[in-house]
Amino acid sequence: MKITINEHDDNKRETVSIDTGHIAAKRKLKIAGTILLIAGAVACIVGFINIISSTRNGEFPNLFFLLMIGFPLLAIGLSLLMFGFRREFTKYVKDEVMPLVEVDARRLSRAVREGGETKKCECGEVNDPVSKFCKNCGKPLSKKCPDCGNDNDPTAQYCSNCGRRF
Ligand SMILES: [Zn+2]
Ligand SMILES: [Zn+2]
Repeated sequence: MKITINEHDDNKRETVSIDTGHIAAKRKLKIAGTILLIAGAVACIVGFINIISSTRNGEFPNLFFLLMIGFPLLAIGLSLLMFGFRREFTKYVKDEVMPLVEVDARRLSRAVREGGETKKCECGEVNDPVSKFCKNCGKPLSKKCPDCGNDNDPTAQYCSNCGRRF
């Protein structure tokens, strides 16, 4: 059970720097998205009013092109905003969900560091490498060779030390 303080600090620092980058990028996206959205909306409205008034007056809508520009601007602005909020969602996942996953990964890597792999039982339970019996179902987690005394995987067909068949 060794988690050094240095390692923990490093992890924290890394998380903070990533978050700052996310917030900055998110803000840029939201500003750009809002500007495009407003510009697109204004262009659309002006173009639309122009078409209506021109039709009423029997003229050619000379500002019709504003609609052609306005709609793509609206679409781009919307998608930028959506992307900005998606980053917010990603941040939520990172802050709320990832720590839970991280704890599990840390426990696993600690087990690996302490001595080889974890011991997985037939029932699916992952046990500490030092465990002799499954903490879930109580089955033995190793098969002791009657000839040489070597601890083998419970599913082993032959002893990995002397080759005795079980
Ligand atoms: Zn089990
Ligand atoms: Zn053996």
